[in-house]
Amino acid sequence: MKKSVINRRSFIEQLSLGTAAVLSAGPLGVFAQQPDRKLGIALVGLGKYSTRQLGPALKETKWCQLTGVVTGSKEKGEQWAKEYGFPVKNIYSYDTMSQLADNKEIDIVYVVTPNGLHAEHAIAAAKAGKHVICEKPMANTVEECDRIIAACKAARVQLSVGYRLHFDPYHKEMMRLAKEKDFGAFTTMTGDRGFIMQTKVWRADKKLAGGGPLMDLGIYIIHGACMAANGVAPVAVTAKEHPKTKPDMFTDVEEGISWTMEFPGGATCAAQTSYQHSADKFRAEGPKGFIDFKEHAFTYRGMVVETSNGPLTFTPPNQQALQMDDFANCILNKRKTIIPGELGRRDLAIIEAIYQAAATGKRIPVKI
Ligand code: NAD
Repeated sequence: MKKSVINRRSFIEQLSLGTAAVLSAGPLGVFAQQPDRKLGIALVGLGKYSTRQLGPALKETKWCQLTGVVTGSKEKGEQWAKEYGFPVKNIYSYDTMSQLADNKEIDIVYVVTPNGLHAEHAIAAAKAGKHVICEKPMANTVEECDRIIAACKAARVQLSVGYRLHFDPYHKEMMRLAKEKDFGAFTTMTGDRGFIMQTKVWRADKKLAGGGPLMDLGIYIIHGACMAANGVAPVAVTAKEHPKTKPDMFTDVEEGISWTMEFPGGATCAAQTSYQHSADKFRAEGPKGFIDFKEHAFTYRGMVVETSNGPLTFTPPNQQALQMDDFANCILNKRKTIIPGELGRRDLAIIEAIYQAAATGKRIPVKI
């Protein structure tokens, strides 16, 4: 690992706490003076998303690098230390996260454990004085989101959520269309996302997942519809749970659910999500045209997207690398992230309203 040229702890503290303006950054976050090293990230939970996406992305990042892990398996941690070139002293277990406070090589903690553990791990990271990224959904409930936000505020650290699609060119184009209204304001949105769960995993366990496919997959449609509504949240929802075809697998979570979101001004989004069918689509239509995510709407690669003007053909970037670099850049430049904890909390508020609508059969107002 690169040695500090100046005392980098005081350097980061000055930037984080605003006691001195050491650097000046341009509008694109270009530094007048380079930081002495990349910010260090520790991943919490070395499951599939960390292993297949975030770890490899951290080999491409410019402003941050992997300098530690939090894992239940010391052996796995040692493999990661070898592969990513960080010292074994930077391997922590879930129980020793408070000791992160003493580690100057770790600036950001990225929580990638099951949803029901995000609050515990994010709060532990904030208490250790680390900036936090929480995977989606931010937590199981709005109440947990509130506790994470409060802990980060108290520790004066930044908080972000792993909404990587803010860095995808197709989704950025949808946000541009929503803002500039080439096709008029989008009035009709539809979405469908699902995969077939073969064996029961934590994603179908309410304590660890918070719910079923709505928490894991439907959240993408919720977030995408808010993007298409130019960043505005729905005012009310209706919903209906799908009948269970595998009640033994989906004991305390939904197998599938259909819901409708009503936006201010009358726009609507009709959506469904399921662990018993495959789909990944989203479409937003306005009076003068549409954007249609026909395949792989919310994934990392292979998106097939067209608008009423024809197909879109952007080169897919590494969304995760851009997302983590942007957060590191925010910390270095004392800029607020475009994906703050409040956005994660907003989506949980919508999800809670959808579950309440399904349980009661009523139209439920969304209270953000
Ligand atoms: P996974 O099951 O592959 O990994 C979960 C990790 O948490 C494992 O390393 C496991 O050992 C650890 N863990 C710690 N305590 C656990 C417990 N009590 N029970 C089960 N596992 C425990 O899951 P994943 O697919 O890596 O998902 C992790 C998080 O990342 C979830 O919140 C998920 O929604 C999110 N995710 C986000 C994206 C994205 O595109 N942004 C993609 C996939 C997953």
